[in-house]
Amino acid sequence: MRITRYAAAFAAIGVVLTGCSSEAGNQAEQQTGNTVAVETETSFEPGTTMAELAEAGTMTVGTKFDQPGFGLLNPNTKAPEGFDVEIAKLIAAQLGIAPEDITWTETVSANREPFLMNGQVDMVAATYTINDDRKQKIDFAGPYYEAGQDIMVAAGNPLGIEGPDDLAGKRVCSVEGSTPAENIRTNYPEAQLTLFDVYSKCADALTNGQVDAVTTDNVILTGLVAGNPDGFELVGNPFTKEPYGIGVPKGDDAFRAFINDTLEEAFDNGDWADAWDRTAGAISGTEAPEPPAVDRY
Ligand code: GLU
Repeated sequence: MRITRYAAAFAAIGVVLTGCSSEAGNQAEQQTGNTVAVETETSFEPGTTMAELAEAGTMTVGTKFDQPGFGLLNPNTKAPEGFDVEIAKLIAAQLGIAPEDITWTETVSANREPFLMNGQVDMVAATYTINDDRKQKIDFAGPYYEAGQDIMVAAGNPLGIEGPDDLAGKRVCSVEGSTPAENIRTNYPEAQLTLFDVYSKCADALTNGQVDAVTTDNVILTGLVAGNPDGFELVGNPFTKEPYGIGVPKGDDAFRAFINDTLEEAFDNGDWADAWDRTAGAISGTEAPEPPAVDRY
């Protein structure tokens, strides 16, 4: 059963990464999404975000569009695919909102808090690390996964970079508004940091020799290595904890509690592990880990 599921997901992701025909794109759509039952009988307290979204029958979700395994736009379906996308679909399903009724908005790292604060998105599922700085502006449900900052280098690791201390004097790329960029700036000031808005541009910079390394969460780098295994290599020595949360507007405690309930249910009933297997797990070849405990702060 599990093997069949992996095989299907591998096929789907292969199609996504190489961007083939529209027939293949349809297969990818069938294989990566729409597996969770959408609630038909919802009942929420009037005035809550849940009641408003259920009534509207649609919601806007911020996610990444260039991160294989977590949020990657499928050019054929024009919808993103990945673990974050599946987690967002699970939440939408509990609101009675079908996947095709979700509006997906690209939130690059630096846009996540602003887009939540100005109401451009209802929630953000985008490899989004929960931390106190961000909690000044927004709130988080979750965590639903824990990643760790790591380093990607050219295949063969020509400069022998084994950890963040080896980045001194090296050109390293990360993304504006991300925790890995902040960590390098603060704790490894001898690294020469280049910042872009998205990680795919860092991958391009590594390919053309503009930088010596790329740093961000291990699972994001794993997706980039899978897309170019002859060009890239993961150092594989994570040096931070990056608990991923669902970003919601600040002070919406009822919405946050509802998402936490939904995540816990998905942890317990297998939907969360199934989402992992079909997305990030298919790329990394790893089984779903033990889910983290949600933080009901
Ligand atoms: N998890 C880190 C963050 O939230 C890095 C990944 C990203 O930039 O999306 O900043």
